Amino acid sequence: MSVETKGMLDFASLKYERPDVEHFKEVVQSTRLKLMSARDPEVAIAALIEYEKELSKFDTQVCLCNILHDLDTSNQFYTDEVAFCDEASANVSELCSAVSSVLLSSPCADAIREKYGDMIFLKAKNLKETVSKEVIDDLVEEANLETEYAQIQSEASISFNGKMLNLSMLEPFLESTDRDTRIKAHKALDDYYTSKVEIFDEIYDKMVKVRTRIAQKLGYESFTELGYKRMERYDYNRDDVQKFRDAVVKYIVPITVQIRKLQKERLGVDKLMFYDLPCIFKNGNPVPTIKMKDYQKVAGDVFTDVLGAEPSFYDVLSEHGFTDLISRKNKSTGGYCMYLEDYAIPFIFMNANGTADDVSTIVHEGGHAYAAIKSAEVSPFVECLSPTLETCEIHSTAMEYLTYPYMENYFGEYAASYRELHMTLALLFLPYGCMVDEYQHIVYDNPDYTPAERHKVWHDLEEKYQPFIKYDDHPFHAMGGAWMKKDHIFTTPFYYIDYCLAQICALELWDEAENDYKGALIKYNHLCECGGNATFLKILEEVGLTSPFNTDVIKRLAYKTCSFLEL
Ligand code: ZN
Repeated sequence: MSVETKGMLDFASLKYERPDVEHFKEVVQSTRLKLMSARDPEVAIAALIEYEKELSKFDTQVCLCNILHDLDTSNQFYTDEVAFCDEASANVSELCSAVSSVLLSSPCADAIREKYGDMIFLKAKNLKETVSKEVIDDLVEEANLETEYAQIQSEASISFNGKMLNLSMLEPFLESTDRDTRIKAHKALDDYYTSKVEIFDEIYDKMVKVRTRIAQKLGYESFTELGYKRMERYDYNRDDVQKFRDAVVKYIVPITVQIRKLQKERLGVDKLMFYDLPCIFKNGNPVPTIKMKDYQKVAGDVFTDVLGAEPSFYDVLSEHGFTDLISRKNKSTGGYCMYLEDYAIPFIFMNANGTADDVSTIVHEGGHAYAAIKSAEVSPFVECLSPTLETCEIHSTAMEYLTYPYMENYFGEYAASYRELHMTLALLFLPYGCMVDEYQHIVYDNPDYTPAERHKVWHDLEEKYQPFIKYDDHPFHAMGGAWMKKDHIFTTPFYYIDYCLAQICALELWDEAENDYKGALIKYNHLCECGGNATFLKILEEVGLTSPFNTDVIKRLAYKTCSFLEL
């Protein structure tokens, strides 16, 4: 484990320095020259390592800039720097693409492949096919639009019960046990989005257009194809993904209909409305029985118990300020784990608000951080440290299941109820995730759709994937606007299915852990240690997990989870 207590830096001591793109350009030029001319593999490798150092430096500063901005979105300096970094990133990815081109045709390519494997070459070819000089301005425009959406959402100020709340602070009220409170909270949310529909429609329309333009300039028919390349899907395609979604409709949707039926009976309502959906249990969803200020300490204890090392990686990260858990005004929304390559340290960012979701997020982001630390030395190439994103999501989602036996630490006597809630939400999530994915396929296959047509698409998909959903006089939701709440649709196109693929793999590990916890943990550690040295399906094979495209595994897990939930 490379994160150590002694000698580790404090997050507060890290200084952001604006990345020097001109210098990076010089390094790229000299790397290209050496790769083109070197006959001695050692010379070529040395040049590559030098370039990797500069790339790591650049990535680290961009990450740091984003984290510092997200911790205080009212700080104009970092808002401006994020804009600078967005533009710089577009230029740098073009420069990286230029290095990729010469790496692929370098006289030493075979020797490099022999020594370090194929992955860096797969990535080089992929990058060459996703970025070129002609699309730089478009990439900057795309990044600016993404920032604009995120900025509006982070500044959301919703009037509720005489207070002004941001989106995360409103969440506990959305799942309140008191129906009137739930109705009012959902009404407030609906009003907020109604006031933003036009601007979000406009931003998304521009995004679809600019992404389509980028795809066409690069020689693709639609952005969908480019989206798959950007997501680095090396060993599966859209047909596989469609079969996966079909299996979810066939095996999981009926379970969710049953879950909602039982929920309706439990809540004792005559019609289960959409504002009832977040309240799974009559007496309320379990909430942590500990205070938010104790989350860090308990997280450290839980990870020590699961992984058997003391202090746990989490204790070390917390102690040095690499975690920021609690929601507050002017903090960006969402949760993530970002890896600061130069320091080989991850940073965990989230918005705890006192709900059960806090705990799922703590262990989820903790899983990402643990995997990042475990694979810090698997490759000399920063591009190959962590795997493609569906695999990263197994690191995090499987950790949610591996910590099941320790949930008493957070929920006391309500731990069983938390596990039931967590599994229920996992099953409800699968159709939702597939819906987000299918929505994007339709949108990018039909880039000329009007905003109204896009809302109609979402509306129809809800009938397929969430047949139980009922809206009444909530105009924003009823017209098919709910997709606007999902930031991934704006900021990371085609990412969302990765969560669903990972969920199936993580559930397989859960099932194994139910029978043989130690065996499942060994597999999990093996998975994390693989880092990014292979593609998704190859890693699964290496570790002994079933491909989620094998629909039998979905059918089997549907059965197992039903019996866990006693459905
Ligand atoms: Zn994640």
